[in-house]
Amino acid sequence: MDTNWRSDFRRARLEEVLEDGRVRCHLSPRNCTMKDGQLGFCKVRGNRDGRLVTYNYGKGVHVTEEVIETEAVFHFSPGSRILSLGNIGCMFNCSYCQNWKTSQARYVDDRDVYRYTPEEIVDKAVRHGIRVLSWTYNDPVVWHEFVRDTSRLARQAGLKNLYKSAFYISEEAVDELLPSIDIFSISLKAIDEEYYRRITTGRMQPVLDATKKVYRANKHVEISMLMITDISDSEEDARKMAGWMLDNLGPEVPLHFVRFHPDYKMRDTVRTPVDRLRRAREVALDMGMQHVYLGNVLDPEAQNTTCRGCEEILVERFGLAARVVGLTPQGHCRRCGNDAHFAEVFHESEAATVDQLQQSLVVRSFDWHGDIASLHVQVRNPTDSPQSIYHRWRNGTEKSIPWRIVTLNPNESYRILLSKSQIGEVGRDVALHPLLESNLHEVFDRAHFPTVSVDSERAETDISPLPLYPGRQLAPEKLQKKLHVIPPAQTVKAG
Ligand code: SF4
Repeated sequence: MDTNWRSDFRRARLEEVLEDGRVRCHLSPRNCTMKDGQLGFCKVRGNRDGRLVTYNYGKGVHVTEEVIETEAVFHFSPGSRILSLGNIGCMFNCSYCQNWKTSQARYVDDRDVYRYTPEEIVDKAVRHGIRVLSWTYNDPVVWHEFVRDTSRLARQAGLKNLYKSAFYISEEAVDELLPSIDIFSISLKAIDEEYYRRITTGRMQPVLDATKKVYRANKHVEISMLMITDISDSEEDARKMAGWMLDNLGPEVPLHFVRFHPDYKMRDTVRTPVDRLRRAREVALDMGMQHVYLGNVLDPEAQNTTCRGCEEILVERFGLAARVVGLTPQGHCRRCGNDAHFAEVFHESEAATVDQLQQSLVVRSFDWHGDIASLHVQVRNPTDSPQSIYHRWRNGTEKSIPWRIVTLNPNESYRILLSKSQIGEVGRDVALHPLLESNLHEVFDRAHFPTVSVDSERAETDISPLPLYPGRQLAPEKLQKKLHVIPPAQTVKAG
């Protein structure tokens, strides 16, 4: 593995200089103490000559245009386009990590690492008409200095910042985020300290404390819980999560129960049965939670926002596509006036389209299959003039559908998420100038950042993405025994 990305570094914040040349890092609750030359648990911070440094400043995976729903954020400007920014490293090592190829620094390859400055990020978002930067994927906690610098600059440019995280973060670090982060989408794994210890290798209480802190600071907060088959998908797990939120946050905070796919060290299992996710949702709603959704499940009933006063549909969703149909600009029900708890309602302007293409363009087609309903398209424009990418959905009939246009600057590289957005859609077409270089990547569920393109290799199933983790797999029964959780289901079916 080529790790040249670690060849340069810069001084890190939240440092404590100790005796004998050691330093302690106060970014995450691990509080790693490092001798000269050592790295912390996350492998992206370390001790160089007695000072704490960060190795991943400005280094991350390719920036990607997505939509805000990708981040389990349903109550902040539905349908908004976001610029997603992921880095490398993590303060956790979850056994099922769906981004292990980038979160576990030892597996990061230089081919997957891109370098950006704060100015370049903000400029790219503004130029493409994007209003929200999303700090996401592996985990933004370990990218602290770059997030802090860029989010402050973005705010000056009128952009919003969204922080999607497992939130194993110190209170000092949260204090440094509060001035510039508007939205926190927090992944709470389970209300179970033993689960955190065994499966994430971290601790639960600091995560809960940090979550309460941002809620009390009046930030927009949404919570998601990945329900892992036979590990954390029981009614009791759902009850504990809803109970903690009702006691410590509020019933208006959106809760997303998210379907898991087998990955990393936990491939010897199946996707979460959909009936268990539906049951979890019923449990949380019965307990008094007001906005409970399912993630990674194509189920409009569990994805739409419905008025709690009059049952009117306020936001219609299909997969990652959202359409505001019944909200006032203040986020209230247009019919009965009930507050639906939307922090902001913003309408994206219609994308530019054309009906006919020039004949010289090359068309690439991708069909949705199984659970694969999203695609990353990465395109580089090596020419010295602006070039456009055209894309459209396909319905399997001859009906002609307009092409949407995205324009790239000379030498620009851009990545965009295309997602199944309606019943009857069978795939996507992308049309490009022959000189543009492109890669298509299958997306396995919304939090996944694919690193293998379909041009180099295809996954055999729609269950676990490539590359497959080459190390030892954990037996699910052993994990359950250690956790003392529910016994495995007698009949486990992928829903
Ligand atoms: S961010 Fe956390 S894991 Fe990384 S060095 Fe600091 S304390 Fe250790």
